[in-house]
Amino acid sequence: MKSYEKMSKEELETLKKELDKKYEEVKAKGLKLDMSRGKPSKAQLDITAGMMDVLDSSTDLVSEDGVDCRNYGVLDGIKEAKRLFSQMAEVPPEKIIMYGNSSLNIMYDTISRCMTHGVLGSTPWMKLDKVKFLCPVPGYDRHFAITEYFGIEMINVPMTPEGPDMDMVEELVSKDDSIKGIWCVPKYSNPQGITYSDETVRRFARLKPAAEDFRIFWDNAYCIHHLYEDDQDFLLEILEECEKAGNPDLVYKFASTSKVSFPGSGVAFLAASDRNLEEIRKQLTIQTIGHDKLNQLRHARYFKDLAGLKAKMREHADIIRPKFEAVLEVLENELGGLGIGEWIKPKGGYFISFESMEGCAKKIVAKCKEAGVIMTNAGATFPYGKDPKDSNIRIAPTFPTPEELAEAAELFVLCVKIVSIEKLLA
Ligand code: PLP
Repeated sequence: MKSYEKMSKEELETLKKELDKKYEEVKAKGLKLDMSRGKPSKAQLDITAGMMDVLDSSTDLVSEDGVDCRNYGVLDGIKEAKRLFSQMAEVPPEKIIMYGNSSLNIMYDTISRCMTHGVLGSTPWMKLDKVKFLCPVPGYDRHFAITEYFGIEMINVPMTPEGPDMDMVEELVSKDDSIKGIWCVPKYSNPQGITYSDETVRRFARLKPAAEDFRIFWDNAYCIHHLYEDDQDFLLEILEECEKAGNPDLVYKFASTSKVSFPGSGVAFLAASDRNLEEIRKQLTIQTIGHDKLNQLRHARYFKDLAGLKAKMREHADIIRPKFEAVLEVLENELGGLGIGEWIKPKGGYFISFESMEGCAKKIVAKCKEAGVIMTNAGATFPYGKDPKDSNIRIAPTFPTPEELAEAAELFVLCVKIVSIEKLLA
C-alpha cells in the first residue's frame, strides 16, 4: 500500500471523494456501537456464574480460621482468601490485606490517607505547598482523575516499549522532593498493553527519591489477564525487588478480581511491606470493622487456588482473543503501510492503543460518533484530558460482539483515513 504522505494532492483528493461517499453510506446505516467501555461482556460474566451457587442458606459459612463470615471482624481478610490472592499477588499471605470489591477504591483511599496523614510519619501532603505525581502516558484516566481530584499536579512521563521512560523518572524523583508518587500499570498496561521489562522494574526498585514519602502506585490490574496461553508476558515481582534493593517500603501494590470474577462484586487487595501494612491497618481499624467476608469466602471456595484462577482466565481469553484479533486485522488490512497510524498488538489486558497522526485524534473520535460509533474520548488517556499531540485513541474491544466490532473497526479506519487526508491536504 502506498503511504498517504507519498501521494500527490490530486490522488489524495480523489481518494477522499471515494472515502467520503463510503462514510455517508455507513452513516446511513444508523449504527449504534460502543468501543469505549473497558468492561467484560455478558458471556465473560457467565464464565463464573457458578460462583453464585457456592454459598446458600445451608452452606457452612465458617472460614478455615473459625470465623463466622456473616459477622463483624477480621480486618485483613479471611485465611483462605489471603492464601489464594497472595498467589495472584505473588507475595506471602502476610503481605496482603483484603479489601472490598474495588482496587480503584483502595488507590483513592491510599492517596486520601497520604494527603491527610502523610506516609510513615511524614508531613501530610495537604499541608505542603505543592504535591506532584508522575503519570506515564498514555495511561488510565481514573488514576489521573484521583490525583486531579486531590489537587496533585501531574507530570507526563512518556511510555516506551519497556515501560515508562526511566531516565526521566530517575532524574525527576531524585531532584524534586515535591514529587510524591507515580502511577504504574506494569503488566499489559492500560491502554497500550505494554509490560515493564525486568530492567525497568529493577530501576523502579532502586529509585532514590528526594522525598522519603515517595511511593510507587503499582496497579497490577491485568496480572493474569493473558490473551495467549503460549505467548505471555512476565513481570518481575516488585516488592521482592524493592527488598533486594534495600527499599522495602517504596511500593504499594494493588489488584482485584474485577475482570476475573465480576467487576461489580469481585474482591480487591493491597500488598506492601510490613511497615506500610502496619500503618495502613491503623487507618483501617478506624475505617471499617471488616470488609465483605462472605464474598471472600465465595471467591476462595470457588477458585480454590492459582490454577483455578488461571483456568477461568483461559476461558476469558478464549472469548476476548477473537475480538482483539478482529480489530487488529482490520487495522492491519486497512491501515498497514499507509503511514497514518500506529498501534501495538497486545498480549493481554483490555485495550488496544491507537496513535493517529498528530492533531487528528479528536476529529477521528468525533467523526466516528457522528456515524454512531462511540470511542473513548480523545485525550482521556492523559492527565487533565489533554493529549499534547492529540493523537492517542483507546480502543476497548471486550464488550461488543465480534460482528459489532468488525463493523465499528471498519468505520474507525474509514474515519482515520478521511481525517488524515484532511490534515495532509490542509
Ligand atoms: N486499574 C486499571 C489499570 C484498570 O484498567 C481498571 C479498570 O478498568 C481498574 C484499575 C479498576 O479496578 P477495580 O475494578 O478493581 O476498581
